[in-house]
Amino acid sequence: MKTFQTVAELQNHLDQLKSQGKSIGFVPTMGALHSGHISLVKACQRYCDITVVSIFVNPTQFNNSHDLETYPRIPKEDAELLAQNGVDVLFLPSEQEIYPKDLETVVNLDLGNLETVMEGEFRPGHFQGVMQVVKRLLDIVRPDQLFMGQKDFQQFTIIHFMIEKLQLPVKLRVVKTKREEDGLAMSSRNRRLTPENRKIAPEIYKCLKYAKRNLKQKSIHELENYCIERLRKKGFEPEYFTIFDGNTLMPITTPNDAYIAAATAAWAGDVRLIDNMILKSPRGLNLFV
Ligand code: AMP
Repeated sequence: MKTFQTVAELQNHLDQLKSQGKSIGFVPTMGALHSGHISLVKACQRYCDITVVSIFVNPTQFNNSHDLETYPRIPKEDAELLAQNGVDVLFLPSEQEIYPKDLETVVNLDLGNLETVMEGEFRPGHFQGVMQVVKRLLDIVRPDQLFMGQKDFQQFTIIHFMIEKLQLPVKLRVVKTKREEDGLAMSSRNRRLTPENRKIAPEIYKCLKYAKRNLKQKSIHELENYCIERLRKKGFEPEYFTIFDGNTLMPITTPNDAYIAAATAAWAGDVRLIDNMILKSPRGLNLFV
C-alpha cells in the first residue's frame, strides 16, 4: 500500500495508474476504521482496479467542537488494517492540503429540504461541510467510482444529488450497513460507548425492524411515537425517529410512497448514534451494491 499526504504526490501516482488504463475506486472516511469501512473497501475492489481510501477528520462538518475533539484518531492501526485488506493507496492529507487558504472550496448548491430534515435539523451546516469535503476529495482523486455506506442515509442521498446536479463524472455505489452480531450498526463512535450503553445499543436496530414489520399494520405516526418511547424507556435520549420518502427525505404520513425508509438518531450517554433501514424498496433502485 502506498501512502500519500500531499495532493501533488497522490495525483502524480494516480495519473500514472490512469494512463495505464486502470479504473479508480474511492472510499472517503474519517478513520477509526472498522468492518463497516472494510465492506466499502471490498465492494470497491470488486468494481475497480485500484482502491483509494482517504482518512480525513473534516472539521467543516462538525457543528460541535467537543465531538470534533473527541473523534477517535488511530491512523497507525487504520493504515495496518487497510494494508491487510489489500488497499492500494491511502491518502492522509492535512487540513492545509484539503483547504488551502487561496482556494474556494465551498460548494454553491442549494440542497433545499434535503439538508433541513433529520440530521440537518440537529446538525445545522453539517451537510454543507460534507458536500464541501466530498467535492474537494473528488476533485483531487478524480475516481471513476465512489463508495459510501447506507449507514449515513441522508449523506449518500445528498452526495447523489450533488453528483447529478453538478454532473460530476463519477458513479456512486452504496454499500449496505454492516452490523455487529446483535444488530448495532458499526460506527467509529461505538468505541466510546460505556459497557452499560453498549448493552442497550441494539435496541435501535430492534426499533427499525419493528417499524418495517408493522409498516402496513400501524399508522406512520403511531410507529414513530412507539419507537421514540421505546428508545427513551431503554435509556436513550432520542432526537428523532422518522419515516420518510427515500428520494425526497420528506416525512410521510401514509405508506403509499414507493421508496420508504426510517432513520433515527439517539444519544446513549454522550455518544450520538444514528441508524436507518429501508422499509420499502422501489423497483430498479440501482445505487446499492
Ligand atoms: P465515516 O468514517 O464514519 O465518515 O464513514 C466513512 C464511510 O463509511 C461512509 O460512507 C459511511 O457511510 C460508511 N460507513 C460507516 N459505518 C458503516 C457501516 N457500519 N456499514 C457500512 N458503511 C459504513
